[in-house]
Amino acid sequence: MVEVMVLGVAQDGGHPQPGCLRPCCANVADQHYPVSLGVRSDEGSNLLIEATRHLGDQFTLWGQTEVNHLLLTHAHFGHIDGLGLFGRETLASRGIQLHVSASMKQLVNQTPQWNLMVQQGVFQVQTFASGTSVFNDGSLSVETIQVPHRDELSDMHAFILRGPNKSLLFLPDHDTWEETLSLHDVASIRAWLSKLEVDFALLDGTFWSADELGGRDQSKVPHPPVLQTLDMLGNREQGDPEVYFTHLNHTNPLYNYDGEQMAHVTSLGWKVAFQGQRFTL
Ligand SMILES: [Zn+2]
Ligand SMILES: [Zn+2]
Ligand SMILES: [Zn+2]
Repeated sequence: MVEVMVLGVAQDGGHPQPGCLRPCCANVADQHYPVSLGVRSDEGSNLLIEATRHLGDQFTLWGQTEVNHLLLTHAHFGHIDGLGLFGRETLASRGIQLHVSASMKQLVNQTPQWNLMVQQGVFQVQTFASGTSVFNDGSLSVETIQVPHRDELSDMHAFILRGPNKSLLFLPDHDTWEETLSLHDVASIRAWLSKLEVDFALLDGTFWSADELGGRDQSKVPHPPVLQTLDMLGNREQGDPEVYFTHLNHTNPLYNYDGEQMAHVTSLGWKVAFQGQRFTL
């Protein structure tokens, strides 16, 4: 058996987001950590996907204090800014297998703080290629899928976790459906998910709609809006995987479980991931 726990559902800035004094972030007690998954297999593997700055709270939520594998999708800050917590000053970890792409490995090597942690034996870096299996312990395997996402620092890979019975896609960030589907040579989201043979799909739900950022230039923070994904998916049909939106920006109305937007998502047969949610694979 493989158990996955959702350790965070927020976009990189978290929710409440630092610096936001608007109503969306007024409830400081209602904390949502940046996206991360904790994965345990019967074979004794403890995997963490993403290293957020809330990693300590996320370990508490997960009930774990150690991981033997750490996987990173890409180098944007919410996904990697907890890496330093594994060092001598805090967790003093040893020999964590750090699974990253070649461009992410280059960034690790070029960043003095992270390079030092590799030299001190905190991390052993393992490089993965796109479309390959990075990990397999007999009950759990992890595959990588490259997706287009602004790549100033590193490329971006989604992960598929396959357990003995079920599979889960983790795709927290990508730029546009047009580019992602075209890279994988498929005509629709439904066709792609079917090709990937996943039972659960955690998809980029950063923004509800294209006008959510107000005056800010949307082209600088591109993610497919949830409304567009819903338009493309339509109603859930027999044989479709369960789709859960995640990586929610602090402005996203889907944080309101009683809101009309949440009602719209569920009326079509789709869902929104929540912190502490478990999946058995
Ligand atoms: Zn992100
Ligand atoms: Zn806010
Ligand atoms: Zn990103």
